[in-house]
Amino acid sequence: MTHDIIVLGAGMVGVGCALHLQARGQSVALLDRRAPGLETSYGNAGIIQREAIAPYALPRDLGFLLTGASNRRVDVRYHAKDAARMLGPLWAYYRNSAPRPYAEISRQYETLIARSLETHTQLMRDAGAEALVAGQGYLMLYRSERELHSFFKEADERAGSGVNHIKLSGADVAREEPALLGTFAGAVRWTDPVAIRSPGDLVQAYAKLFEQRGGAVHLGDAMALHRTDDGGWQVGTADGQTLCAPQVVVALGPWSMQLTSRFGYTAPVIPKRGYHMHYTPLPDRPLNSTVIDAEYGYVVAPMKDGLRLTTGAELAYVDAPRTPNQIEAAERIARQSFPLGARVESEPWMGTRPCMPDMKPVFGPVPAVPGMWCAFGHGHQGFTLGPITGELLAAMVTGATPRVDVRPFSPDRFG
Ligand SMILES: Cc1cc2nc3c(=O)[nH]c(=O)nc-3n(C[C@H](O)[C@H](O)[C@H](O)COP(=O)(O)OP(=O)(O)OC[C@H]3O[C@@H](n4cnc5c(N)ncnc54)[C@H](O)[C@@H]3O)c2cc1C
Repeated sequence: MTHDIIVLGAGMVGVGCALHLQARGQSVALLDRRAPGLETSYGNAGIIQREAIAPYALPRDLGFLLTGASNRRVDVRYHAKDAARMLGPLWAYYRNSAPRPYAEISRQYETLIARSLETHTQLMRDAGAEALVAGQGYLMLYRSERELHSFFKEADERAGSGVNHIKLSGADVAREEPALLGTFAGAVRWTDPVAIRSPGDLVQAYAKLFEQRGGAVHLGDAMALHRTDDGGWQVGTADGQTLCAPQVVVALGPWSMQLTSRFGYTAPVIPKRGYHMHYTPLPDRPLNSTVIDAEYGYVVAPMKDGLRLTTGAELAYVDAPRTPNQIEAAERIARQSFPLGARVESEPWMGTRPCMPDMKPVFGPVPAVPGMWCAFGHGHQGFTLGPITGELLAAMVTGATPRVDVRPFSPDRFG
């Protein structure tokens, strides 16, 4: 079957691209080895992070570097051999986290985040998926007064960019979330973000919208992509069809480099893995909203399948063996304060955030590979940024002017 364009990867980013290309009149085939939204876009914390106008920097203080080296922190862990192989990109990440480059990167990042929620809201309306919204806003919870007051300052700075918040004392936290046990200094409630009760279901609702509008979703292995004699692209599907198109978008999340490197393009992805586990809620102690335990770096989110606890980052390659000791450490801390009942699954889920050393996603034409586009590297906020990425990429592919300056996100800054 011949299309205008094939999108490889049906996570939030690939589905966002497929929908927006379709909206610009393209005939689009979407291919994934699984049904849409079953990988990283399924297992995340489900927050559409309108407040995240600055990306996740590498902490540069000596205390973090020393405690991080011990590999016992709750928020960051690593596989020694893998981390050693990432030293070049990690060093670049460290340098980009210095105040001056970080300010410029954040200015560019904000141009995407500022438009992320509106693009989701429109798609949710079109897909009739509003029922997946669990609630508005979430809590950044602090145990130490010093950390809380430093975060209050950061929240005030973000207010200048139109990001709204409410400051809560320890007593306010106890009133808003009576199920939490322990003493907390206070919290910031970000009021703009939207919490989703099942992130994978939202991707599937968007994919269904794509199909209702005439798009085709196929199962198949993207690694089978090859060039045709006329310079186009071809890939087989699991049910024996052949998809052909003059253009292709690689949106394979943390697996993107496995494909593009075959055509000569690589970028230094830093894989930050994360785990999650669901717990049965305790009937007499409901958690009202998603909470980030800021000093320990884990999230507890009320979701369809129970209370979902997600971990911080584990530096390890996507296919390296699982080491779920990070989620065990987070669970031990969380159980002291959060109303977690029994574990729902026998094994934790694991996924990989594809992060770039300059903290910005990568989307646009793949250099020196005519007809190939890519959209990957969305790190900590790919669930948030999938639809706006799709909108901007679709404008580029069809020769329109994107409403954001896309040069800072160009693939040609690597490779
Ligand atoms: C613990 C955790 C919490 C997070 N919390 C948040 C959050 O609250 N908010 C937020 O915005 N972001 C969050 N993120 C980040 C976010 O989940 C990712 O950035 C985002 O899901 C990336 O989307 P993607 O479409 O690029 O990748 P994926 O969702 O991984 O999609 C890639 C797709 O490629 C497919 N694929 C791979 N190889 C092949 C192949 N050979 N053939 C065919 N298909 C293939 C996969 O099946 C998959 O469907 C979190 C991440 C983690 C790990």
